[in-house]
Formats: sequence, structure tokens, C-alpha cells
Amino acid sequence: MKRVLNYTGIIMLISFMFFSCQENSESTPTEDSTSAETSDEQQVERPAYAIVIHGGAGTIRKENMTDEMEKDYRNALNEALNIGENILKEGGSAADAVEKTIMYLEDTPLFNAGKGAVFTHDGKNELDAAFMDGATLNAGTVAGITNVKNPITAARAVMEKSEHVMLIGKGAEQFAKEQELEIVDPKYFHTERRWEALQRILKSEKEEIGYVDNTADHKFGTVGCVALDNNGNIVAGTSTGGMTNKRYGRVGDVPIIGSGTYAKNNSCGVSATGHGEFFIRYTVAHDISAIMEYKSVSLQEAADEVVMDKLVKAEGSGGIIAIDKDGNVSMTFNSEGMYRGYAKPNERVVGIYKND
Ligand code: ASP
Repeated sequence: MKRVLNYTGIIMLISFMFFSCQENSESTPTEDSTSAETSDEQQVERPAYAIVIHGGAGTIRKENMTDEMEKDYRNALNEALNIGENILKEGGSAADAVEKTIMYLEDTPLFNAGKGAVFTHDGKNELDAAFMDGATLNAGTVAGITNVKNPITAARAVMEKSEHVMLIGKGAEQFAKEQELEIVDPKYFHTERRWEALQRILKSEKEEIGYVDNTADHKFGTVGCVALDNNGNIVAGTSTGGMTNKRYGRVGDVPIIGSGTYAKNNSCGVSATGHGEFFIRYTVAHDISAIMEYKSVSLQEAADEVVMDKLVKAEGSGGIIAIDKDGNVSMTFNSEGMYRGYAKPNERVVGIYKND
């Protein structure tokens, strides 16, 4: 009798476990439908488009800037946004918006990208750029190129027309020529302002005096753009001359996918600017996207964790611009300023200093 009861007990226990498992598995679709509802709601809220740009971060102070220079920067940022916004408004792709916006910033001598790039220790302009498509995770980057007028176009061509992700130096230049991109004499990139910035640093090195260049000419002005188009595609691009006085073929974070540039449609697109070595070691752009995905936090929370906490603790100065899949924008920097701006339908912001 005792044995029979034991068997009955075991059967009851198994039945209980079976039914409670069933109950759990039945609760899963309920959870799923809740998240489906949420994403439907988010889709409704998503703006038709969004675009965000940066023109470099660093010790950008009002007292070191003339009124005229400040006006020039604000005009250039607005013009860059106009170019990208017009493409997106007419239903154009995020890829075209990012490429054309960055081309304009590269052609503008104010920024450290394309014409106006900073000089290497040897007095050259060596340019890096990256382009990434959040729909496919395809990416293209170039590093250390000296004669392609618009490095961002070369980066996009690497993504779309080669089997590779990253091309450097002479090989990248040969590829750009074969793609019939515009090739220029390296002198095209020369500007007096950046040349003088290099001379000041070289002089201080020679005289072994500690030198901090607080002019806006020192190294700031890397450019970047992230766009979200009407189809929900996110594209990110970044272009730079790197850091003044760089040597030995130094390459920064910009053309390292996941460091200075990253895009993934179901999380966000990011373009960074700042002290590249830190952005490489902290894989800043990908970290922001991964934190959003793994922790299910907002874009701003993820950007704050990386830029305002991890990078600050490491003393890595700089910032990021980003857009998430719902069209939320972040322009987060731990430096004194960042040339920046964004546009969405009926919304536009342009800023330089912290409290702009
Ligand atoms: N991140 C760039 C580099 O290290 C420089 C910058 O953004 O100012 O090459």
C-alpha cells in the first residue's frame, strides 16, 4: 500500500511538472505579442527620416573663436544638413544622404577631412574614411590615402564594388583610380591654417617646451554623418585627416569598423570623433550598439555609458553622433565642444559648445 502511494506521488509530481512547463511555454507567445505591439508603436512614431552630423570634437572654446569663424562653422553645418535632408525628404537613400553630406564637409576647408585635413609629421595629408550600411552590415574603409578628392566616396566604393572591407595606401589609391573616382594632386589638400598648426607643434617639439595648442586649428574637424531613411535603413560614415603630427603610417579609429564607425538597422548607427587610440581600444561605436541590444536600454543610455563613463574613466576625449532604429538622435561628447547638428521633419539643431 505504501509502495502504491509512492508511485501515485511520483506520477502526480511528473504531471505537475508537465503542466507547469506547458503553462510557461504558453506564456511566451503573450510576451512576444507584447513586444510586437511595442515595435508596432515604435514604427508609427518613427520619423520619415533623420540625419545627424559632426565636424569634430575637442577643446573648442568660445574665447578661442572669432565671431566670423563661428558663423562660418554654423553655416557649414547647416548647409551640410540641407544637403542630406533634401535627399532624405525626396525619398532618397540613407547611403546617398551620408555620402553627399560628407563630400560637402570634405570639400569645406574648415574641417579636418578632405581639403583642410591636418598634416602628418612629414608634412603630408593622409586620409582615412569609413562607410557602413546597417541593413546588410556591409562596410568599406580606406586608410592613409593621399590623392582621392573625396575619401568617403572611396570608402563607399570599397563597400559596393570590392570583395573587401578595408584598403590602405597605394592599393586603395589604385582601386579608386580604377573606379574612376576623382584623383587630385596631393597639394589640393593643403591649407595654410593646418600647415601652421603643424609648424607650431614641430617648433615646440624642437625646443622641448610643453605645448598645448588651444586654437581651433590643432586637430579638430573629423567629419561624420548618420542617416535613417524612409525605409528604416541606417547608414553611418566618417572621414578624417587623423591627428596633427601623426607618424609612421598611424591610422586612427575612423576606418576601423566598430571603433569610429558602425551601423546596424535593428539597433543604431554611430560615427565618432576624438582621440582615436581610445576609440579603437574601447570599440566605441560597436559598444554603443551592443549595449543597446544586450541590455535593452535606450540609445542615450548606451551612449552615456560608453562616452561619459567608460571613456571618461580612461581619459579618452571625444564624442559620438548616433541615430537608433526609431529615429532617436544622440550627440554625446565628453570634450568641451563638438561641431554638430541634426535634422528631422520640422526639427533642426546645430551646436558647437557644451551649452549650445
Ligand atoms: N578620431 C580621429 C583620429 O584619431 C581624430 C578626430 O576625430 O579628431 O584619427
